[in-house]
Amino acid sequence: MAPIDVVIAGGGVAAVEAALALRDLAGDRVAVTLASPRPDFVLTPMAVAEPFAAGHVERRPLRSLAEQVGFAVVAAGVARVRPEEQVVELSDGSERRYDALLLAPGAQPVAAFPHVHTFLAEGDPSALSGLVADLEEGWSRSVAFVVPPGVTWPLPAYELALMTAGEVRSMGLDGVTIQVVTPEQRPLEVFGDEASDAVGRLLEAGGVAFVGGVEPRAGDGGRIVLGPGDRPLEAERVVALPVLEGRGVPGVPRDERGFIPIDEYGRVQGMRNVYAAGDATAFPIKQGGIATQQADAAAERIAADAGAPITPRPFRPVLRGRLMTGAVEQYLRAGAAVDRGRARASVEPLWWPPTKIAGRYLGPWLSEREPRTPDAPAGRTIDVEVILDPRG
Ligand SMILES: Cc1cc2nc3c(=O)[nH]c(=O)nc-3n(C[C@H](O)[C@H](O)[C@H](O)COP(=O)(O)OP(=O)(O)OC[C@H]3O[C@@H](n4cnc5c(N)ncnc54)[C@H](O)[C@@H]3O)c2cc1C
Repeated sequence: MAPIDVVIAGGGVAAVEAALALRDLAGDRVAVTLASPRPDFVLTPMAVAEPFAAGHVERRPLRSLAEQVGFAVVAAGVARVRPEEQVVELSDGSERRYDALLLAPGAQPVAAFPHVHTFLAEGDPSALSGLVADLEEGWSRSVAFVVPPGVTWPLPAYELALMTAGEVRSMGLDGVTIQVVTPEQRPLEVFGDEASDAVGRLLEAGGVAFVGGVEPRAGDGGRIVLGPGDRPLEAERVVALPVLEGRGVPGVPRDERGFIPIDEYGRVQGMRNVYAAGDATAFPIKQGGIATQQADAAAERIAADAGAPITPRPFRPVLRGRLMTGAVEQYLRAGAAVDRGRARASVEPLWWPPTKIAGRYLGPWLSEREPRTPDAPAGRTIDVEVILDPRG
C-alpha cells in the first residue's frame, strides 16, 4: 500500500513530537513533510536560564532531524487550508495535497502592558542580564515579575524571580526586594496544594515575596495597578510575562482568541483529516509537555488511519513542570517531596529523561547528546506534576 501524505505545519515542540511519533508508530505507512518558516527547532524555555548562565537556548536544525528520521522539510509556513480539496497553501506560494494535516504553528506572544518590559524569551536574555547587573550595582533595589491575567503557564515568572534572588544572594546584596505578582491565589496553583506548598516554601526561603490573588493591569502613566482596589505596584523594575494569542489559519475554525478547537484525538472540530496540537489549540493551558501529549494523540490517530496496528488513545493531560530555582538543595531536600493522589512535587526527577519539556519522543531526542539532565545542573530544579481534566 502506498504511504499516506501527512503534512505537519510547524517546527516546534508539537511538530517535532508528531514527526517522531509518526515515524515510530506508522513507519513507511506515512510520508511526512514538515512545513516550518523557521529552519531550527528552538528550545525557548531555557531563555529563563541564560541571564544567569544556568543554561542556554538550544537550536537544532530541522533538516538534520529530517535526514536522521526520514521526513521532508519545507522552509515555509501554512498560509491557508482548502479543506474540500485537502490542500494546504504555504507562505512561499506553493501548495501541498494532504491525506492528513497536523497544524502546530504555536501562538503569538504579545505584551499585556504597553509600558513595562515583557519577557519575550527570544532575544530577551540580554535585557534580563542588564536588570541583574543594575541590582548588583545598586541602580535598582526592587523588581516584580508579573503574571498578567489570562496567562496559563506562569512558571517562567517563578523561575526568573528565584534565579534573580539566587544571584542577589550570591552577591551578598542586602535590601533588594523581589516579588512574584500574579492572579493565582497560591504559588503555581495549577499544580495543586502540595506543589503550591513546596514552591511557597522555596519562595520564602529564597526571600521572594508572593503577591497572589491580584489582577495586574495598566494604570495611568504606564504604571501597573493591582485590582481589586487599584493599589499601585511598588517596584522600580517590572518584568511581565506575555499573553498568548492564536495565529489563526485561514480556512480553519478558530475561537474568539484565534485558537483552534480540537477534540480529544486532536481532530479539528468540523474538519476531515485535519488535526492540531500545541499552543495553537483552544486547550487552555499552553505548555510544552501538553503540546507533546496532544501531538501524540493526533499521531496515534493518523497512524491508525494509515493502517498501523494500534488503538489510538485520547489526550489525557498530565502537566509536568521543571522549575529552575537557582539553588534548591539546601531549601527543599528535607521533607519537600510530596506525592498525594493527582499531584506530585520532588527534587528528584519525576520523569525520564529529565528534560525541561517532557515528551514521549521529544524528551529522548532532546537528551540524545547528553543523557543526564542536559538542561540544568542536578539539584537546582524541582519537578511538579498533576493530572488535569482533558476538557481543560
Ligand atoms: C520563557 C518560556 C518558558 C517556558 N517553560 C516551559 C517549561 O518549563 N516546560 C514546558 O513544557 N513548556 C514551557 N514553555 C512553553 C512551551 O515552550 C510551549 O508551550 C511550546 O513550545 C508549545 O509548542 P508548540 O509546538 O505548540 O509551539 P512552538 O514550540 O512555539 O512552535 C511553533 C512552531 O511553528 C512555527 N510557525 C509559526 N507560524 C507558522 C505557520 N504559519 N506555519 C507553520 N509553522 C509556523 C514556528 O516557527 C515554530 O517552529 C515555556 C515557554 C516560554 C516562552
